[in-house]
Amino acid sequence: MLPKFAYMLNQLVAEPSISSTTADIDRSNLRVIEHLANWLDDLGFSTEIMPLPERPDKANLIATLGANGKPHPGGLVLAGHTDTVPVDEALWQSDPFQVRDSNQRFYGLGSCDMKGFFPVALHAAAEFAEKNLAAPLTIVATSDEESSMAGARHLVANGIPKADYAIIGEPTGLQPIYAHKGVSMITVTVHGAAGHSSDPSLGSNALDTMHEVMGTLMCFRQELAQQHQHPGFTVNVPTLNLGCMRAGDNPNRICGHAELQIDLRLLPGMDSDAVHRQLEQRCQDAAAGSNTQLTVSTIYPPVPPFESPADGSLTTMLSELSGRNPGTVAFGTEAHFLQTLGMQTVVWGPGSIDQAHQPDEYLEQAHIQPAIDTLQRIISRYCQA
Ligand SMILES: [Zn+2]
Repeated sequence: MLPKFAYMLNQLVAEPSISSTTADIDRSNLRVIEHLANWLDDLGFSTEIMPLPERPDKANLIATLGANGKPHPGGLVLAGHTDTVPVDEALWQSDPFQVRDSNQRFYGLGSCDMKGFFPVALHAAAEFAEKNLAAPLTIVATSDEESSMAGARHLVANGIPKADYAIIGEPTGLQPIYAHKGVSMITVTVHGAAGHSSDPSLGSNALDTMHEVMGTLMCFRQELAQQHQHPGFTVNVPTLNLGCMRAGDNPNRICGHAELQIDLRLLPGMDSDAVHRQLEQRCQDAAAGSNTQLTVSTIYPPVPPFESPADGSLTTMLSELSGRNPGTVAFGTEAHFLQTLGMQTVVWGPGSIDQAHQPDEYLEQAHIQPAIDTLQRIISRYCQA
């Protein structure tokens, strides 16, 4: 017997599993994995905890029901990530690590993105615990989705899990998502030389170079938009956002150092490596002859764009069961990685992305039972004889 939904969600939310590139904010996800593994063991799943290379404090969980735990063709994967983004507790009205049940919502860090998907998936799976499945049902819980996607990359490196179909339970308001943009976060750094502002020949101004770089990037953005459109997206072109800049120290000093961070979102079908190379070349050309040094680096490894057939059987069934037309989103998920493993992949889950990464994040309780019911129909279709 599984514990009640609210109890399970509270157990998961109470374990901080924040992913961050800042080492003293970054937390282990093992406690979340252990809760899930215990519940899945009780349901008769065979569970495997897969630590990340050189990160014994981070792991994926692979839990399989049916097919006697042996490798077996076909079947369905329900996947989600166990980590959350960092939290600013001062902005919350209640403890982010304690689920608050109020206004038909469960408030808590990760309640919608996406710890809440696991009790949904487990309650759906519980129905099949005693039944013979013709094809395996696999539940996958990953680490580090919110930072490097190291968990999903590790799955691909190991070639597991194998199945025909996968649902990633990110909060989509129960709308099946068949495509999303790729996401890259890039830093452009210009090293110049500082000096007294009264004589420009005493240094090399990094901000002067950055001004050229920004102009170049804005032209590049326009070119990308002219060359690439996808009618499935509300913003139907790739985007390039100049998001954040740090430079210099004083008005009366030549700016010795400037750093610009940009967010690049590419459409399915675009080759992110090629676009990255082009972008770097454009920046280098803009800086040429300036007496400053320019480097381009990625903040995280890029999340590739994703697209599966809009009329695929899983998308169609999710659409019919939830009464929502298939659509696209502009945020990144692990979908590309599961697709690489050979699964027809759809992003679909309870809660809204509007609440993700926000103070007072919540999961709409009205989504929970419909999500469980829908998953049970899907499991029955893809795993039962
Ligand atoms: Zn998420």
